[in-house]
Amino acid sequence: MEFLTNLAYIAASVLFIFGIKMLGSADTARRGNLISSLGMLLAVVITLFQGGLDYTWIIAGILVGGGIGAVAAKRVQMTGMPELVALFNGFGGLASLLVGWAEVAKDPSLSSGPNPTFTAAAVVFAILVGGITFTGSLLAYLKLSGKLGGSATTFPGQKAVNGLVLLLLLGFGIAFAVTREPALLYVVIILSLAIGVLGVLPIGGGDMPVVISFLNSFSGIAASAAGFVILNNVLIVAGCLVGASGIILTVIMCKAMNRSLGNVLFGSFGAAAGSKQEVEGEMKAITSDDAFYVLEAAQSVVFVPGYGMAVAQAQHAVKELGEILESNGAEVRFAIHPVAGRMPGHMNVLLAEADVPYEQLCEMDDVNAIMESVDVAIVIGANDVVNPSAAEDETSPIYGMPIINVHQARTVFALKRGQGAGFSGLVNTLFFRNNCRMIYGDAKETMNNLVGQFKD
Ligand code: NDP
Repeated sequence: MEFLTNLAYIAASVLFIFGIKMLGSADTARRGNLISSLGMLLAVVITLFQGGLDYTWIIAGILVGGGIGAVAAKRVQMTGMPELVALFNGFGGLASLLVGWAEVAKDPSLSSGPNPTFTAAAVVFAILVGGITFTGSLLAYLKLSGKLGGSATTFPGQKAVNGLVLLLLLGFGIAFAVTREPALLYVVIILSLAIGVLGVLPIGGGDMPVVISFLNSFSGIAASAAGFVILNNVLIVAGCLVGASGIILTVIMCKAMNRSLGNVLFGSFGAAAGSKQEVEGEMKAITSDDAFYVLEAAQSVVFVPGYGMAVAQAQHAVKELGEILESNGAEVRFAIHPVAGRMPGHMNVLLAEADVPYEQLCEMDDVNAIMESVDVAIVIGANDVVNPSAAEDETSPIYGMPIINVHQARTVFALKRGQGAGFSGLVNTLFFRNNCRMIYGDAKETMNNLVGQFKD
C-alpha cells in the first residue's frame, strides 16, 4: 500500500508540474489549472485510503471547506481576485500551523517519528511560517479590500520592535525544538501570529500584490514543513512548488516596479507624503465626438488598459473599437504594463476574454521604443502605470517604477470617470500635459460612444 501511495503521489506531483508549466500561456492555462486540480484530487483520494482516519470529521471538513471555497470562487469578481487569493493563502498558513500544533497535542514527546528533534524543528517551522502567513495575509486582505486604511502604518522604533519580536520567536522556536516543552510552543504560536501583523503593517496598500505573492510563497513553505511533520511526500512536493513559484512571481513583480523585495517589505512605501514637485498646467477635457475625428485620421493607435477598464468591464467595447480602427487603416496595439490592474496578468486575462489577438499585445519595453511615432495613445482607466513622475520626478514615491511612456505619443486620450487618483493616491502629471485630453465618463460608455460614431 505504501508503494502504491508513493507512486500515486509521484503521479500527482508530475500533474502539478505539468499544470504549472501550462499556466505560462493563455492558450493552455485553463487546461493547466484542470490538470493541477486533478493532481490534487489524486493526492487527496490516495491519502484518504490510509488507515486510522476518522472519516466523519474529514467529510465534514470537505463539505464545509469545499462549500465555502466553491461559493467564494463562484461569487468573486475579477477585480476581487487578489483579495480572495490573500484569504486562501492565509487559511493555507493556518492549516499548516494547526497540523504542527495537532502533532504536538497528539504526541507531546514527538517520539513516534524517526527523529524527535527533527520533527520538533519541522513543527516549529510549520507554525512559525504558517502563523506569519495567516495573520499577514488577513491584514493584506483587509488593506487591499479597503476595509482597513491602505496606507503604510509606521511608528518610531518599529524596525527595532519587529527585529526583537523576530529574535524572540527564533529563540523560543529553537528552545522548543531542543526541549520539546509544549508551553514554549504556545509562545511560538503567539509570536508568529504577532509578527505577521507587525510585518505587514508598515507596507502600503500599493505594495499588497507583492506582499500577497510573497505570502503565497510562505504558505507553500509552511505546507512543505507540515509535510515533514506528518511525513507526507506529496505535501512536501506541493509546498515546495507553491513556495518556489510564489517567490518567482514576487521577484517578477518587484522588477516591474523597479524595486527590491527589501524595499517593498521594509521601505514603508506609501507612508511618505507625495511628490514635492508642483504640477503645472491644467486638465483639458474633450468630448468623444471630437475624439472621434482625431481617431479617424490616426495611422497608429496604442490602447493602454488599466484597473478602470476592469471596473467598467470595457474590454469587449475596446476590442470592437480596435477592430474598427484597424479596418480604418490604423495600426493597432495593446500595451500591457506588468502591474496594471489589481493582479498579475489582470489585463491579459480581460483582453483574452474579449478575444483580442495575441499578436496585438505588446510588452512595455517594445511599445515604449516606438511610442514617439504613435498618433494616439488611448489610456483606458489606467493611471499609476502611465504616470510620467515615475520617470521624471525624483521626489515622487513611485520614482523608478517603469511606466508605459504614453506621454511621448503625439496625442493621449485619458478615459476616466473624474479626477480620482490611481491606486498609489498620487497626482498624475500626464493628465496636465499639452498633448493629453481627458474623456470623462465610464470607460465602457465612452468606448461604446466612439464605436457608435464610427458606425454612424
Ligand atoms: P490605477 O489604480 O492607478 O488607476 C485606475 C484608474 O481607473 C483610476 O484613476 C480611476 O479614476 C479609473 N477608473 C475607475 N473606474 C473607472 C471606470 N468605470 N471607467 C473609467 N475609469 C475608471 O490603475 P493602473 O492599472 O494604472 O495601476 C495599477 C495600480 O495598482 C498600480 O499602482 C499597482 O502597483 C497597483 N496594484 C497592482 C496589482 C497587480 O498585481 N496588477 C495588484 C494591486 C495593486 P476615476 O476614479 O477618476 O475614474
